[in-house]
Amino acid sequence: TSDMDDLETQLKAARADGARHIMIATDGVFSMDGTLAKLPEIKALADQYGALTMVDDCHATGFMGPKGQGTPAHFNTSVDILTGTLGKALGGALGGYIAGPQPVIDLLRQRARPYLFSNALPPMITAAGIAALKLVEEGDTLRAQLFENAAHWRKGLTDQGFTLLDGEHPIIPVMLGEAQLAQDMARALDKRGVYVSGFFFPVVPKGKARIRTQMNAALTRRDLDTALQAFAEAGHEVGAL
Ligand SMILES: *Cc1c(COP(=O)(O)O)cnc(C)c1O
Repeated sequence: TSDMDDLETQLKAARADGARHIMIATDGVFSMDGTLAKLPEIKALADQYGALTMVDDCHATGFMGPKGQGTPAHFNTSVDILTGTLGKALGGALGGYIAGPQPVIDLLRQRARPYLFSNALPPMITAAGIAALKLVEEGDTLRAQLFENAAHWRKGLTDQGFTLLDGEHPIIPVMLGEAQLAQDMARALDKRGVYVSGFFFPVVPKGKARIRTQMNAALTRRDLDTALQAFAEAGHEVGAL
């Protein structure tokens, strides 16, 4: 819930406990809601209390911020440790990264379990990751298309009467409430050729079941309008509208 008062309470408690190091860890973008962490406020509190900041940016890498540099860049701020995946927006590749100060990286090379006890990425996957990063660097047009698609999709669903969570991120949850309704809706959409999956407890809180849609730069206006039509029909069929 991005409760900054609570964060400050915890920082004070850590200081009072005599903590040697304090780190605030957060997702850059929260995967189930598509909401952004309040990084400028988090950074200000971190500076005030001498804490490090760590952002897991898996749902931002490649498309949020200038050149797809992620949520800190989106907010024109910086963090101490930034992690991302090559497996989501960068599609097809596998693996991820942790960027941070050299002492942190040195420590992780000795202590990070998956790093120590797993095989390295195979060369073809690494090559695909490098190729994907090149596409990201040159991807201003695709990013613009992505956010245009997201805006069109949000407006289309809102105009039909669906309840969305506010935002601009391409993760666009359609809120349905009860798990049963989310499952019925997924089935009714599947029947119409639109594949979605319902998310319900324990993945999201009870009573906040949803269908989590995600935009994609490759979808055409026609694709989106076809899917919007299916959402309208399915919504009426199952009583979500
Ligand atoms: C997907 C995800 C990961 C894991 O990424 P993989 O590349 O699949 O291992 C980590 N953190 C968050 C927030 C994620 O959404």
